[in-house]
Amino acid sequence: MKATSIVEFVRDTYKTDEFIPLHAPRFGGNEKAYVMETIESTFVSSVGKFVDDFERKIEAYTGTAKAVATVNGTAALHAALYMADVQRDDLVITQALTFVATCNALYHMGAEPIFVDVSPVSLGLCPKAMDAFLEENAEVTDVGCIHKKTGRRIKAVVPMHTFGHPVELDELVAVCLKWNITLVEDAAESLGSFYKGKHTGTVGEFGAVSFNGNKIITTGGGGMVLCKTKERGARAKHVTTTAKVPHPYEFFHDEPGFNYRMPNLNAALGCAQMEVIEQYLKQKRLLAESYKDFFNGTDFKFVTEPEYAQSNYWLNAIICPDKESRKDVLAVTNGAGVMARPVWQLMHRLPMYSNSIRGTLTNSEYLEAHLLNLPSSPNL
Ligand SMILES: *Cc1c(COP(=O)(O)O)cnc(C)c1O
Repeated sequence: MKATSIVEFVRDTYKTDEFIPLHAPRFGGNEKAYVMETIESTFVSSVGKFVDDFERKIEAYTGTAKAVATVNGTAALHAALYMADVQRDDLVITQALTFVATCNALYHMGAEPIFVDVSPVSLGLCPKAMDAFLEENAEVTDVGCIHKKTGRRIKAVVPMHTFGHPVELDELVAVCLKWNITLVEDAAESLGSFYKGKHTGTVGEFGAVSFNGNKIITTGGGGMVLCKTKERGARAKHVTTTAKVPHPYEFFHDEPGFNYRMPNLNAALGCAQMEVIEQYLKQKRLLAESYKDFFNGTDFKFVTEPEYAQSNYWLNAIICPDKESRKDVLAVTNGAGVMARPVWQLMHRLPMYSNSIRGTLTNSEYLEAHLLNLPSSPNL
């Protein structure tokens, strides 16, 4: 298939001659009105009714016991790992095929990543690969799961639902139980994605969502910690609000907290976006269907949701037959004002994670060389 025909298809689909970005935010509802309301009320900062409303909306939508809004998704993940009691010098299992924020969050807890392979079905962390790595390298002791060679504790695992496609969570939970490892989901890309009817980010002990400008809905910048119990939610709010003990005038903080609370200004945008999320999801599913039809029968493989899941199709992806064809598609699409990009470089290629412990990464390496993302905005 010719790369130019991909350009034609995307242009036909979006019906525009202008530049087509990978994922652009869209504001067609109450965004302006709600944001103006925060300004007129002067409650633009971290206290205000939109923060509470937005948290309640995310709780209702995801079915989580308690959601706590943060300044961004990385902060949500950082706070989640803090709540999960990841300690300095712990090891945390994750995937090498992810956005760098997954690793940065655990790194800033003083922990280090262990990279295991991703599943070719979900493109996210593979439970079998995790179990195989642990069988070879770990043992369960009184103090938890220990990496035998270094003697360090493997405290948690952070799977990431790549491009919105849910990982195999039942299998992952079983591996976590077997090895006494805490499951924290990086659901930054998967708001609106469900695993066997459960919203991503609600199966693990904690989940982190992002509302960055390129995500399915946006608050400008923002995130949310999803907590399994009300008690944990209360603590998440506490630690993201400098761990200040409530008092009419005294300043007393009972642990090293974060200043991670989402401002009301941003939450106003979030409330308006939640009013249209279903519509965005529908449009994104239609778009994914049309990509699927278009690539059907070609040597490019369109990535579809795993059969056990319902994906938000945040970013549409294709697997190119070889490196050369991907290079060609990238050059032709970008040259024609249709944005496409290769998947992230694997995390262990980055200088700060190059010495990390890792298992075999065959699927990750294949995807790194062949995967490409295409325009995915819900603006049909
Ligand atoms: C977007 C993203 C994040 C971080 O979200 P921010 O809101 O940008 O901090 C974390 N992990 C993954 C996989 C992401 O795609």
